[in-house]
Amino acid sequence: MPTTSDLERMLREVSLRVTRPRVAVLSAVYEHPHADTDSIIGAVRTDLGEVSRQAVYDVLNALTNSGLVRRIQPPGSVARYESRVGDNHHHVVCRSCGAIADVDCAVGDAPCLTASDDHGFVIDEAEVVYRGLCPDCSTTTASS
Ligand SMILES: [Zn+2]
Ligand SMILES: [Zn+2]
Repeated sequence: MPTTSDLERMLREVSLRVTRPRVAVLSAVYEHPHADTDSIIGAVRTDLGEVSRQAVYDVLNALTNSGLVRRIQPPGSVARYESRVGDNHHHVVCRSCGAIADVDCAVGDAPCLTASDDHGFVIDEAEVVYRGLCPDCSTTTASS
């Protein structure tokens, strides 16, 4: 887990001014991978006291635009944020409870980037969303 000075350095590296809300939001994203906005707001409030939703939204946008944070939005899910950026990893989403886990790209050199038909696009990212039931939900379903 990065320290406060690590987080401050990351902000400076992308030319964002270091502010307490930015540090708190970035820290919350590191501590709660794939958290939705509400959970991040909750974590930031625990840390800083009262912070407006809009302030947290603004910080999340700034962090996402600067590439420090990745926003994912699986179909049917609210936006979620994570600090694992730039490695083209994928997600598995539970159809029942919405739990999300990281899935590393298929072994080797990101074969999903080689589209069977690129339609002339220069492709630099691919996101695969796997769906199914998480261990908790699959046991519940099986026993009921
Ligand atoms: Zn589940
Ligand atoms: Zn992830």
